[in-house]
Amino acid sequence: METSVYIHIPFCRAKCYYCDFLSFAYSATNFSPRDYVRALIKELSIRGQQLSDAGIMVSTLYIGGGTPTALPTVELATLLDNCHRYLPLSSPEWTVEANPGTITPELVKLLGQAGVNRISLGVQDLDDHRLALLGRLHTAARAQQAFLLCQDSFPSVSLDIMAALPGQTEAQLLTTLATVCDWAPQHLSVYGLKVEEGTPLATQVASGHLQLPDEDETLAMFLSGRQFLQAQGYQHYEIANFAQTGHRSLHNQTYWHNHPYLGLGLGAHSYWQGRRLENTCQPELYLQQLAMGQLPLAVSHAVTREQEMEDTMMLGLRLLSGVRFDVFQARFQQDLRHVFAKEIKHLLALGAIVTDNTAIRLSEAGLPVANLVFAEFLR
Ligand code: SF4
Repeated sequence: METSVYIHIPFCRAKCYYCDFLSFAYSATNFSPRDYVRALIKELSIRGQQLSDAGIMVSTLYIGGGTPTALPTVELATLLDNCHRYLPLSSPEWTVEANPGTITPELVKLLGQAGVNRISLGVQDLDDHRLALLGRLHTAARAQQAFLLCQDSFPSVSLDIMAALPGQTEAQLLTTLATVCDWAPQHLSVYGLKVEEGTPLATQVASGHLQLPDEDETLAMFLSGRQFLQAQGYQHYEIANFAQTGHRSLHNQTYWHNHPYLGLGLGAHSYWQGRRLENTCQPELYLQQLAMGQLPLAVSHAVTREQEMEDTMMLGLRLLSGVRFDVFQARFQQDLRHVFAKEIKHLLALGAIVTDNTAIRLSEAGLPVANLVFAEFLR
């Protein structure tokens, strides 16, 4: 048997203005990366032992954050070593998230030698003015430099690009996409900017200091960006994700197929042995519990069969290939067309989904309103 493991690194060089992820700027926390990595290694040892005892191999490993590559080099190297020491790895797809400003030849060498074979680079935009508005520390030139370094060293490089940014037009987004397509990364994730409550960006938007594209402009950006990337040969395989052949994210497909995975680190979530688990978000508690040899769980609840079916629909419909009838049948011994007959009838009438003999999937019209479609399956 195989599974996926996510490892969370909650440190960044500085906090971006729009970010509400669980991450701390070094200048704003006493939380020591050294103490954190020590605790994380304890958690790795506990979970690694459980996996080995159950004969489960790790086929995808994803170190995200935060900014894993903002860890001091010695801590990052220790973490990578201990992934090998404790996790039963089966030649995994091994991804590390990185910010362009943290990429150096030494870092690339360290990651490559450890077995990392996929880099997810937070480029976000190629306009220096907008990057500064978002609180990003890099420039477009630095992003390109980082990409070129990664391209030479890793078989798969994914770039994160943001859309619907303050003052951004559809033409400007397409210019950014055209430039990154010239670089030819194997994978692209394109996310719309979300204004999260309590962030500096939310304050600036509320005060009218920054203006975001309206709903129509955002939709136009989404549709033309998608069309452009497809014309460049990228397969649109998940709402926000595009890949060249053979480069879809295996790790994220674990989530979208609603398969079990383990999340390690501060605030990390797991779906494991029929339960949804959440680690504590409190740094002190995380360190204390692991120092006592205990898993730092704050939430653990059983997933009912009905919830598992709903999750399977909501996550699976994110994939453009949709949810296959035979896969659902094999998992639940029930036909999804019967289980969700009412929802499917309603969504078909709205034109938001399509079905054939094999699967149910979002329609072209359903893509931009995907969140409303998913909500239909939540009872
Ligand atoms: S680099 Fe990523 S995790 Fe860190 S503050 Fe910026 S958006 Fe948040």
